[in-house]
Amino acid sequence: MNRTAEIAGAGFAGLTVATELARRGWRVRVHEQSPEPRAFGAGIFLWENGLQVLNELGATDRALSRYHEASLWEECDSAGSQLGTRPFPLPGGLRMITLTRQDLFEALHEQAVAAGVEIRTGSRAIAAGRDGELVTADGRRWTADLVVGADGIRSAVRDSLGLLDEHQVFDFGLYRFLVPLDRAPGRDGRWRNYVNYWNIARKRRVLYVPCNTEDLYLLLGATADDSALRLPLDPAVWTASFPTLEPVLAELPEAPRYDRYEVVRLTRWSAGRVAIVGDAAHAMPPTIGQGAGTAMMNALNLARIVAAGADVELALDTWETENRGLTEHTQRESVTAVHDLFPQAGETRDEWREDTLVVAKNVPKP
Ligand SMILES: Cc1cc2nc3c(=O)[nH]c(=O)nc-3n(C[C@H](O)[C@H](O)[C@H](O)COP(=O)(O)OP(=O)(O)OC[C@H]3O[C@@H](n4cnc5c(N)ncnc54)[C@H](O)[C@@H]3O)c2cc1C
Repeated sequence: MNRTAEIAGAGFAGLTVATELARRGWRVRVHEQSPEPRAFGAGIFLWENGLQVLNELGATDRALSRYHEASLWEECDSAGSQLGTRPFPLPGGLRMITLTRQDLFEALHEQAVAAGVEIRTGSRAIAAGRDGELVTADGRRWTADLVVGADGIRSAVRDSLGLLDEHQVFDFGLYRFLVPLDRAPGRDGRWRNYVNYWNIARKRRVLYVPCNTEDLYLLLGATADDSALRLPLDPAVWTASFPTLEPVLAELPEAPRYDRYEVVRLTRWSAGRVAIVGDAAHAMPPTIGQGAGTAMMNALNLARIVAAGADVELALDTWETENRGLTEHTQRESVTAVHDLFPQAGETRDEWREDTLVVAKNVPKP
């Protein structure tokens, strides 16, 4: 008889573990609280590790039907003077690309459905039991060989099991949204690069990220009490801080998605037959763009290790032992980058840190 899995959350982690288990013969159901499965946020950076997971899932062609690969990462001050550059591809030929979250989501969703995964929308998980039970808000109890909490940073599954060790929220927040790329006055040079603009005096930041030939992803960041973060966002405030970006900041969405930098650590990544994966287990600030890539790698490994062993609890121990060290290293890198966020006077940023690259090298084993 097929082994079974009940998964909470149809995000990048939930869809990855679901697809891989289904491809290995498991009967898999994903419970997604939203009425329609969809991505939130705007654009996303994927490094080599995330790209290789897409490959393993057979999702590359769909996900990368539209994407952008810059030849340079630039750091600039608010007037546009360069503080440093880093070339792509990364050392060792590692890639880092950008795409819209919706394109990534649709590719993963399509692969899950094609592999036979059942996705129940409007189904909110509220708790889980160590013996392999998922409880949903409609009062139903779903039993399975494996239950997975992939329900994001405020995971109800995790909290019902008392696994949370630390949830830290930093004093820096970001709005993110897409605008038409044709607002950029040029299509060459800097307008094709990924560019971090810093207004050091006001502690404000704009990250400029082309995602494909149509979409420009912008992140507007500041300390949480900065009046520039008040809604509706005021283009005059942001263009005054970043005059060189006036063409792309002249019109801003009124209330785009806002997040603070956050980090989550658990006492254990599993309890009995219940595994916690993705942001629910190991959220990290997006400073090195590795939250989703790490979530997808850990989700793929979770499916592979559990499917290969007869004893689910033992397999979950092995999975945590094999993946937790690098994940915590990645979290530390992301948190270090929060503390060093704004360039110091005279600082140049011309090198990729080996401690960051090591994460991108963590690709699925053949
Ligand atoms: C500003 C910002 C920028 C980022 N940029 C990058 C980047 O460039 N690259 C990168 O790799 N990472 C980035 N990240 C991190 C990345 O977004 C996350 O690590 C990633 O989305 C985690 O995926 P997940 O599937 O674990 O969780 P989520 O994406 O949060 O998905 C969880 C899913 O579970 C559903 N859900 C929640 N609760 C329940 C429930 N109780 N029952 C059922 N369903 C539920 C949600 O609706 C959602 O569909 C960024 C994060 C932020 C905040």
